[in-house]
Amino acid sequence: MRLRDGVSARPHPVVRLLPGKEKALERRHPWVFSGAIAEEPKRVGYGDTVDLVSAGGEFLARASWSPESQIRARVWTFDPEETVDADFFRRRVFAAVAARAVLFDSAEDGAAVAVKYRGNAFRLVHGESDGLPGLIVDRYGDVLVCQFLAAGVEHWQGAIADALLEATGAVTIHERSDADVREKEGLPSRVGLMRGREAPERIRIEESGRCYLVDVREGHKTGFYLDQRLGRDAVARWSAGAEVLNAFSYTGGFSVAALRGGATRVLDVDTSAAALEMAKDNVVANGLAGDRYETLEGDVFALLRTFRDSRRSFDVIVLDPPKFVDARAHLDKAARGYKDINLLAFKLLRPGGILLTFSCSGLMPPDLFQKIVADAAVDARRDASLIERLSQPADHPVALPFPEGAYLKGLVCRVR
Ligand code: SAH
Repeated sequence: MRLRDGVSARPHPVVRLLPGKEKALERRHPWVFSGAIAEEPKRVGYGDTVDLVSAGGEFLARASWSPESQIRARVWTFDPEETVDADFFRRRVFAAVAARAVLFDSAEDGAAVAVKYRGNAFRLVHGESDGLPGLIVDRYGDVLVCQFLAAGVEHWQGAIADALLEATGAVTIHERSDADVREKEGLPSRVGLMRGREAPERIRIEESGRCYLVDVREGHKTGFYLDQRLGRDAVARWSAGAEVLNAFSYTGGFSVAALRGGATRVLDVDTSAAALEMAKDNVVANGLAGDRYETLEGDVFALLRTFRDSRRSFDVIVLDPPKFVDARAHLDKAARGYKDINLLAFKLLRPGGILLTFSCSGLMPPDLFQKIVADAAVDARRDASLIERLSQPADHPVALPFPEGAYLKGLVCRVR
């Protein structure tokens, strides 16, 4: 290793790839799978930094090591001169924060910024696409919520937390490293206060003129589906004068948008009573009339059938189910699930009605999802057109060499 400013650094362990396996790295994809590795290095621990080299010994990338994961290495840098130390994480975190500052109107210095969204809650770090593989950081006002989902960011969590506080001035970092993928990394689940003072039980956030209550301790993911901002804005646009069914409503993100957009009635359906309670509180928090709003605790698959049998109909239906696909092997089953709910939804729509249908499964290809929705319309005997496409917003970027970062797909369809 070179000597830099008189400081000597010990060389990193070198991990050699099998012949031909350097191609993905040459295209700047940040992952190396176990099958690409010529020989497992000895005495390299969770999250240690390694140098990846081609079969011919050429430097490819500097990466973190995940001894238990099928994704054995995640790239920090393709630059052989770049050192992976606390300052590296400071630079990456500051870059991610700066990229969000131009998107939102919450810049405190009042600087002229190109504001795209209104609100104080957004994704601050989106993993691989922000050059920080395995790190998710969401901002809810003064509170940051972190997920360390890979051995590399786990190893550097202290430096990352320091940088986050310095870059944002946040008063709290709450950790939600309780996602299933931690298991694949051989890491235990961990939640709780990481820095600063305890987060309030419910944080009130603002988004596009709406407000929401967020429980960062018990809520899904980091507390709220920040990735559906564009979907909520779309629902607001399509809901004027409409009777709206919001299936898989969670805490009513879409319902508040629909009511604010002028819906005459909104019905939330979810299996979680706690989520529906929070949804009611969200409607109240927005000063919206409760008599336009109802919740129904139950299974969407069954309730859509009940509505069909009782000839109930709606002007707008939102279908935003949980992730149906966890592994490629489940794709067929997931496809049947999507087909089923979309078919029923098409049947329940009044003439001219709008379906906003989503898939947040990264393993579900966009063209397959569109085909499933098209098949559902055919089987429901409805003529439908695709009138708008939705996806994750700009605070959830997709690095071009990393198409896996694009997971959320939404189709807005109008029936004749
Ligand atoms: N649309 C929500 C996010 C949906 S998360 C939003 O924008 O905030 C998925 C939700 O579906 C969870 O709240 C979960 O409780 C609910 N759910 C999962 N399976 C369900 C089922 N079969 N019927 C009804 N709700 C279900």
